[in-house]
Amino acid sequence: MPATMRAVRFDPVTGRPEVAEVPVPARQRDEVVVKVAACGIRRSDFAWLDGSAGPRGPVYTPGHGAAGVVAAVGDDVRSWVPGDRVVVAAGRECRDCPECRAGLSPDDCSDLRLMGEHYDGAWAEYLVTSATALVAVPGAVPLEQAAVLPGALSIAYGAIDAARLRPAEAVGVWGSGGLGNHLVRLARICGASPIIALDRRPEAREGALEQGADVALHPANNRVASYIGEITKGRGLDVAFDFGGRDSTFAQAHAALGARGRLVLVKTASKGSLVTRMFAEGEVGRTVISHTGYRVRHLRDLIELTERGRLDVSASISAILPLTRIAEGLAKVREYEDNPPRLLLRP
Ligand SMILES: [Zn+2]
Repeated sequence: MPATMRAVRFDPVTGRPEVAEVPVPARQRDEVVVKVAACGIRRSDFAWLDGSAGPRGPVYTPGHGAAGVVAAVGDDVRSWVPGDRVVVAAGRECRDCPECRAGLSPDDCSDLRLMGEHYDGAWAEYLVTSATALVAVPGAVPLEQAAVLPGALSIAYGAIDAARLRPAEAVGVWGSGGLGNHLVRLARICGASPIIALDRRPEAREGALEQGADVALHPANNRVASYIGEITKGRGLDVAFDFGGRDSTFAQAHAALGARGRLVLVKTASKGSLVTRMFAEGEVGRTVISHTGYRVRHLRDLIELTERGRLDVSASISAILPLTRIAEGLAKVREYEDNPPRLLLRP
């Protein structure tokens, strides 16, 4: 192990990321050091870089959603050895919440610590994390492709898992850009039928059809409800996924549910008043589920699908840049707000 490494360091005071030579972080007895092969640049990174979320204090290393090779393990780590190929979940257990103290699985932690927010991230040659945050990557899956899985794909997959989606269920997806686009693809793999995508942007509707949606609609079309009725033969939706998070998308998705339909509200907090109003109307049997993030086991499932060729994420990588071109990468992702290029950094 070298003593120092190259990393992108972000200073919240100057607001500028800079490539610097810093010490390789020390590992605890139950931690692993991963040599990063690739890490994404995501829209979600800007919430931290722009200071609207995350640490405002000292200089830190951003970047979440990474894959690489185990370089060293702490004395207590039995599950990994140097040389193992791994993908890294961004969340690691806090060790302090009631679930952690009760000895439950790290996936049950109620206060996950996030890479690039609570601890140094993966825009660096090495990262240190808990041994429990890793999932093995088989030789057939390129590490660059594995690095795409934590993030939009795994959040969409987690939402499908939360919905307990079954084959032949009718699915509606409100907001079919980034996350919703991945959800359409995964819903197709899960056998959902029909799949209806709704988005205001023509390119997002086009993308949803390419990923396997049966129909793509403009949500402001005043015939949306009757179209959904026709397409589902009057049954309504079994599952609606709302990535829009606005009153209008939530209300439209909710109204399209059939008997015992489930609405999954992804990532966004719903307006309490709207929910209250809807459930006060005496509806029975429908379920609204809120969902955010993903679990380590979701990454394991996605690796399985990728290894067997059910899921091909090669098209989800637009370009791979060296760490030193971080500023250029950030500018590119920032420029295309609606449909950013999917960039990876290779330290
Ligand atoms: Zn915890």
